[in-house]
Amino acid sequence: MTSVDPTGSQKTSLDEIQRRISTAAATHELPQLVAVSKKQSVDAIRRLAGLGQRAFGENYVQEALTKQNELRDLNLEWHCIGPLQSNKCREVAENFAWLQSLDRAKLIGPLQLYRPPNLPALNVLIQVNIDDETSKSGCAPELIETLAAAIGKSSRLRLRGLMAIPAPHVDPELRRAAFIRMRELFLALQKNHAGVDTLSMGMSEDFELAIAQGATMVRIGSALFGARAAHLMQGG
Ligand SMILES: *Cc1c(COP(=O)(O)O)cnc(C)c1O
Repeated sequence: MTSVDPTGSQKTSLDEIQRRISTAAATHELPQLVAVSKKQSVDAIRRLAGLGQRAFGENYVQEALTKQNELRDLNLEWHCIGPLQSNKCREVAENFAWLQSLDRAKLIGPLQLYRPPNLPALNVLIQVNIDDETSKSGCAPELIETLAAAIGKSSRLRLRGLMAIPAPHVDPELRRAAFIRMRELFLALQKNHAGVDTLSMGMSEDFELAIAQGATMVRIGSALFGARAAHLMQGG
């Protein structure tokens, strides 16, 4: 897992992950795979893109901008999945296709203001703090509707759904319960908002469980790339 074979290992991983995703999805629609490339090298992203992967998730805006610049020729779809500080709204609005981590109202105005008119509206997921952990980002479930209404009024933003990172419970039943609650919140949101089609949940350790509970998008890092190595970090 720590040593990466530059030619073969990723293809096996991408194929293997795609096979596991379609097995878990069984008869429902195939969830979209976002490859989480934080702290992975530009070369590793390029290799995965060469195998057909288009959507990549980054947590740190500065690191993402450096990579996007070096990978311009590939025309990838970038997702911002990390906690967003208000002073980074402009960079996100200008450089990403998706923001998965909107969790408070004060981000909406700047994102709307700075989304360039020549780009399609920014796809937005509301991040929900489903396990009510005080240290984590994400809004309380009670706040979803208020945020959704405000996003809905913003012409440069397009509300697509919800994202969550449930607590890493050792007991899979507790994780399953969190995914089920997310699914219920997602269905409730869909009732009031046309165009809501995305429930982003599930990472390397639990994506099959998340898919079984209705995830339409999974975010997978270490299972695709191998462990995140400090020496591969790009741009901080
Ligand atoms: C790092 C990260 C992931 C991927 O985690 P892995 O366990 O490496 O698959 C997914 N979502 C978010 C928000 C992350 O920060």
